[in-house]
Amino acid sequence: MPPQTAAAAARAILTSLHEIMASRSGAQAKLNQVVEVIGEKLHSEVCSIYLLREGMLELFATRGLNQQAVHVTRMAVGEGLVGTIALHTESLNLAEAAAHPDFAFRPETGEERFHSFAGVPIVRRERAVGVVAVQHVEPRRYEEVEIEALQTVAMVLSELIANAGLIDEDDFLGSGAHMTGPERLQGLTLVKGIASGAAVFHQPRVTIEQIVADDTEAERQRVYLAFDKMREQIDRMASQAEFGVGGEHEEVLQTYKMFAYDEGWGRRINEAIDSGLTAEAAIERVQQRTRMRMRQIDDPLLADRMHDLEDLSNRLLRIVSGQLGTAASMGLKGDAILVARNLGPAELLEYDRRRLKGVILEEGSLTAHVVIVARAMGIPVIGRLRGLRGKLREGDHLLVDGDRGVIDVRPTPSMTEAFEARFAKNRERQAHYAAMRDVEPVSRDGRRITVMINAGLRDDMPMLNLTGADGIGLFRTEFQFLVSATLPARERQTRLYRDVLDAAGDRPVVFRTVDIGGDKVLPYLRQDDSALEENPAMGWRALRVALERDGLLKVQARALIEAAGGRTLNVMFPMVTEPWEFDAAKAVFESQVAFLKKQKKLLPEAIRYGAMVEVPAIAEWLDVLAPRLSFLSIGTNDLTQFLFAADRGHPKLAERYDWVSPAILRFLNRVVCAVAPFGTDITVCGEMGGRRLEALALLGLGITRLSITPASVGPIKELVSKVDIGAIRLAMTGWLVDPPANMRATLTEWAADHGIDCD
Ligand code: PEP
Ligand code: MG
Repeated sequence: MPPQTAAAAARAILTSLHEIMASRSGAQAKLNQVVEVIGEKLHSEVCSIYLLREGMLELFATRGLNQQAVHVTRMAVGEGLVGTIALHTESLNLAEAAAHPDFAFRPETGEERFHSFAGVPIVRRERAVGVVAVQHVEPRRYEEVEIEALQTVAMVLSELIANAGLIDEDDFLGSGAHMTGPERLQGLTLVKGIASGAAVFHQPRVTIEQIVADDTEAERQRVYLAFDKMREQIDRMASQAEFGVGGEHEEVLQTYKMFAYDEGWGRRINEAIDSGLTAEAAIERVQQRTRMRMRQIDDPLLADRMHDLEDLSNRLLRIVSGQLGTAASMGLKGDAILVARNLGPAELLEYDRRRLKGVILEEGSLTAHVVIVARAMGIPVIGRLRGLRGKLREGDHLLVDGDRGVIDVRPTPSMTEAFEARFAKNRERQAHYAAMRDVEPVSRDGRRITVMINAGLRDDMPMLNLTGADGIGLFRTEFQFLVSATLPARERQTRLYRDVLDAAGDRPVVFRTVDIGGDKVLPYLRQDDSALEENPAMGWRALRVALERDGLLKVQARALIEAAGGRTLNVMFPMVTEPWEFDAAKAVFESQVAFLKKQKKLLPEAIRYGAMVEVPAIAEWLDVLAPRLSFLSIGTNDLTQFLFAADRGHPKLAERYDWVSPAILRFLNRVVCAVAPFGTDITVCGEMGGRRLEALALLGLGITRLSITPASVGPIKELVSKVDIGAIRLAMTGWLVDPPANMRATLTEWAADHGIDCD
């Protein structure tokens, strides 16, 4: 082959292909012409096209091999060189074909004369649907430019083949090529639960309408414009404070920037356009090549960077094609598992809640906003699945086991059956718990325990009736702030609080004033100094923000007071560290009461003020603080992270320290004892209270009020009905004085001895 660029070689072939595709001849005749053109332009004695039919790669057209072999020679995926190319969706370039370990001789083809062999996969929707191969008598490796030309041609062929109906789309979807077998992925459980459904990419793949360009110059312009737009977007993202917080996002963004301005990438796309492709096809072509390289890379760091490029490439493709919507905008067709690199809470809420069954993320952490919201919605989430989107295709059946952090992709029928059995058991259990809706949580020795739910969205309200809970022990008001693009206006806040109180009826609702800042970042509220926080959980958050920005608290106070007109308002403050903070927050509310009184507005019948015990320091102040409180609520999520000095979102520390350790239980016991003389109500509203063994321990400490995730209400009610509280209190008294070496094991044994299932 004379030296020429890949673009020129491909262009020469594409021009001819363009004519062939436009001709009125039948599909087979077109393929016959195609092999002639490729063979001729690449100066190859042989050119053959194999297509997937009924799961086998069948020789559909050839120049140079025996014509009798056409539609006779068939190879399984994975068999011979052609099958190997299809299996791995990877090109092969061999000077001596017979020397390759996968070589399989097919006498009917008469190929023994040909020594060199090069083949590239014909890829459709990331899977091989065929192979185009060239062979030569002389033993020589094909030039890189020739392989590239062949790859570009293969791309056009995939379109021609699909349009001509030469491959059965259903057939190839069910075939044995790349990404077809079952695969198990292990990630990190972010929200428990199990679900099954079809993979839906949050940002769907763009469908390319036209592959061969009518006007190359126009395509070049389109890519230029799209690059400009994409760079603008990336720069804007970088300037948003939300992304300026260091860690994962910043790293990703830096890489994005690097790629967005990478000249090599733009040049390769331009070359592909030169070869006659449309802007979309050129971007896809370069992306395909990257994907193939990615598979050969062993270094996970480098592979990660390649994923970033893939992400960016998709973004460019969406811009250039104008297909900008997410999967939410297209609506979910059936039970869906959402697949994304990461999501914002607002993006999650755009999906149809009845059909969205699970979320799986390449990134994600336990405290990510999206995870908080998903937990509230009862949707299992698994995160930290590196390279996830490269392992799945849109529509793949997925079994999500959020309890174990495992996803089965394209499961076998027996796997699905086993999962269904678990699912059914789970449903049975759920039905059993649902049947407990009207059962009061009364212990075996006749003590009534208060079981409430944690909520944060208007959509959570039906859970009150579904669970039969006693009220809402923690309404996280910051959820409304987290899912809004801008600071929610007072009227919107009032509306939400009023709706919540209306839905709750006689049952109490405890509104927690906004706990924002720290890990719960509001882009529209960030300040330059907070962007630099190295330790946000211990930083400028919750009441600390609210007292400094008292405008924010004033607005919220007024919204709450107005919404609760004529009823009782329960309000509590998060992260109280010293008593004056409680006093100051209460004073903001009282000044609003005075203001509204002057306005002759309907005021609440009573306002009950509470504080959360989340910062250990406040436990030392309880003798001072308790007399001023109407109630106390222990937020064990934060409290334990501060007691153990262990980030509550750190995956490596998630299992390291135990909620039922003597340190926690003794600490909680001190709180209970310190408050006892004042008769102040104590509720535990952290995740701890929703777990059966942990709840048993809390009952043992004399805690009689729990506020938990709705899904835990049934299990906890059932637990309560089996427990003799007098007995567990007695046992706990002994363990607090003389802690057993393994508190969890001791409690488990005690539960088993008393016929209580704590799983
Ligand atoms: C807690 O810290 O236990 C708590 C209930 O608050 P949050 O989880 O919202 O921080
Ligand atoms: Mg907290």
